[in-house]
Amino acid sequence: MDGIKIRRVISKKKKLCPHCLKEVKPTSNLGGWLLPQEYSCNSCGYFGSVALEDKN
Ligand SMILES: [Zn+2]
Repeated sequence: MDGIKIRRVISKKKKLCPHCLKEVKPTSNLGGWLLPQEYSCNSCGYFGSVALEDKN
């Protein structure tokens, strides 16, 4: 019985900074599960839980 696989619901979509629209990086691997995900932007210094989803 090896047909059961755990499905990961973690989105691999890129998140974009709401300020400068550059890609932001999640600040925690646990974000979105135990805690609200937060993101940081290396371009403008933005930090927060709001990020835009890249639609491509
Ligand atoms: Zn930014």
